Amino acid sequence: MVDKKKDIRAFTKEQLRDFFMNNGDKAFRGNQVYEWLWVKGAHNFDDMTNISKDTRAMLEANFVINHIRVDHMQRSNDGTIKNAVTLHDGLVVESVLIPTDTRTTACVSSQVGCSLDCKFCATARLKRMRNLNPDEIYDQVVAINNQSKHYHNRKLTNIVFMGMGEPLMNYPNVLKAIDKITSDEGLGMSPKRITVSTSGVPKMIKKMADDEVKFNLAVSLHSAIDDVRTSIMPFNSKFPLADLREALQHWYSKTKKIITYEYVVWAGINDQQKDVDALVNFCKFAPSKVNLIEYNPIDDGIFQQATEKAINMYVNTLEKNNITVTIRRSRGKDIDAACGQLANKNDAVV
Ligand code: SF4
Repeated sequence: MVDKKKDIRAFTKEQLRDFFMNNGDKAFRGNQVYEWLWVKGAHNFDDMTNISKDTRAMLEANFVINHIRVDHMQRSNDGTIKNAVTLHDGLVVESVLIPTDTRTTACVSSQVGCSLDCKFCATARLKRMRNLNPDEIYDQVVAINNQSKHYHNRKLTNIVFMGMGEPLMNYPNVLKAIDKITSDEGLGMSPKRITVSTSGVPKMIKKMADDEVKFNLAVSLHSAIDDVRTSIMPFNSKFPLADLREALQHWYSKTKKIITYEYVVWAGINDQQKDVDALVNFCKFAPSKVNLIEYNPIDDGIFQQATEKAINMYVNTLEKNNITVTIRRSRGKDIDAACGQLANKNDAVV
């Protein structure tokens, strides 16, 4: 028999207030339930101790609370934590806590699998099964915030949408999750501490700009030469660099926010002077920052980290052109939690 009960967490506070009023109760009851769901993180109606037993039974009869479960947790030697998160329908996504001396960052997933086919990415091997709901995204953040407090004695400081999936292919739900994360009734985090990382969907970047979002944008670029980019990120043939650049120009004209580019330099793919020259040419229209990310091989032998010499060439050329550049060492490699390695491969359970 199909369960007809609705997920109560899909309801806004106003909808919950209406529900109680329409059922002969006070609108205020909706506020109380909402607080239990979103501030206190209740997973059962019986946890809602300031709600009468009869009301709890009525809620139980009509609704479910579809929460996530962190079934597996792995801790790396460097303090990174990878969570395997089971969703209410049994599907699994991963999220990662990345600690440094000054911050704790949550890397969260937005889809189960991914419909894009980036050749260097382990997630691409999992077909896209579905989009995550706003609450499933929010729950990953709450779980990591709790782990941050437990293991590092501090709250989460930053969030990046760089886990499984392309966040702009699930834009409405990502936006709702961020609303909840930043609201006082959620985690009250500043949107300035949130970065949505996209492989570059021009139409959606323009929409984000028009929506005047307050969070940051990062683009996984990896090459500013169409042929090269298409060979490693095939969807580039549909969304070529000229369209991406036009969308980013629109983003910058609206937001005046610096644009971050995520970029891996691979041996034999994009490690020549012409590659970095194309990158400079692509991003010089606006204040930009390039994160050169250390690559974590996914056992296919094709993609290998470039030499130090090639990385230095990138750094020197970018700096000469007044483009900020940082080198990002990967974290959590020993537990397959590093960038591009998320593929539901969980060996150890802690
Ligand atoms: S890099 Fe991102 S967009 Fe590309 S396949 Fe992996 S998860 Fe999807």
